Amino acid sequence: MRILVTGGAGFLGSHLCERLLTDGHEVICLDNLFTGAKRNIEPLLANPHFEFVRHDVVEPILLEVDQIYNLACPASPVHYQMNAIKTVKANVMGTMNMLGLAKRIGARILQASTSEVYGDPHVHPQKESYWGNVNPIGIRSCYDEGKRVAETLMMDYRRQNHVDIRIARIFNTYGPRMAMNDGRVVSNFIVQALRGKSLTIYGKGQQTRSFCYVDDLIEGLVRLMNYKKFVGPVNLGNPSEFTIRELAREVISLTASKSKLIQKPMPSDDPKQRCPDITQAKRLLHWKPTIPLRKGLEKTVAYFREMV
Ligand code: NAD
Ligand code: UDP
Repeated sequence: MRILVTGGAGFLGSHLCERLLTDGHEVICLDNLFTGAKRNIEPLLANPHFEFVRHDVVEPILLEVDQIYNLACPASPVHYQMNAIKTVKANVMGTMNMLGLAKRIGARILQASTSEVYGDPHVHPQKESYWGNVNPIGIRSCYDEGKRVAETLMMDYRRQNHVDIRIARIFNTYGPRMAMNDGRVVSNFIVQALRGKSLTIYGKGQQTRSFCYVDDLIEGLVRLMNYKKFVGPVNLGNPSEFTIRELAREVISLTASKSKLIQKPMPSDDPKQRCPDITQAKRLLHWKPTIPLRKGLEKTVAYFREMV
């Protein structure tokens, strides 16, 4: 197949492009390089089945493909808050453009949605049937509400125009090629530990997250895209839940770092707990994560050692 990956030069997108090429597909990677980097796709550029298109999803484009993975959107709070209005545009106009394209050429389209659609959840662990607890006017809203509208658009294009859609709700994913400066907790802690700097714990560090290694996540995305009988939304993430303080200790132990922990103010609307219920993904896609946190962190630390 010929497959379009928007946001293909980013962290998840570059792993997805690589995987799709390995599976024997032709891949068009579309990216405006806002948070992604050419470095991430450098090894793919020589492959005759790979093409890079520098383009912003906020503008329409016409391409002939069989499938579209729509990942184009800054993903870390630091990056998506840098230009909040642009984040809304990428989610609303970008998703609309990709849905319009899918409709016109009859392609199947998968939307990279997020656990942020659950906001600061009152239901734990989060099931797909939970509607969430999202602040519509806060500093995270450009991303959370943007992604919620993107899901709405996906469902309405399906109901109104019979577009063949899939929706993946991705929970915190980590691994090699995360941007060093994007402020996400895994990259921050590893870089701080490797540089011997204090690890910055926001609040008391009792908030929880569930961390999925990138290879597991990519496998889930590909399975959902090619599953015939269900469009989602489907949670994809690792149900092992850790406090941020536990993550910090794990990183310090793995890197044998002498770094200390320091507390910083908790950003507003930071979700207190997050853990996916992946019953649906297990039952329908026969998918579950296979890489435990320590093993995934080892691979990620090895990558960052080369970078710092
Ligand atoms: P990332 O920032 O590394 O990748 C996003 C990519 O999209 C970058 O290459 C960036 O340059 C590109 N991009 C941004 N705006 C664009 C625009 N207007 N036009 C074209 N390209 C644009 O982030 P990531 O972690 O790889 O996330 C990829 C997708 O998965 C995002 O949609 C994100 O919301 C979603 N997601 C990621 C996670 C996670 O933990 N990594 C969790 C939930 C959802
Ligand atoms: N966090 C932290 N120190 C950091 C970066 C993040 O304590 O240096 C916390 C942050 O407050 C949040 C969690 O780690 O509770 C995950 O943050 P991240 O930005 O990685 O993802 P998200 O909040 O979108 O899940």
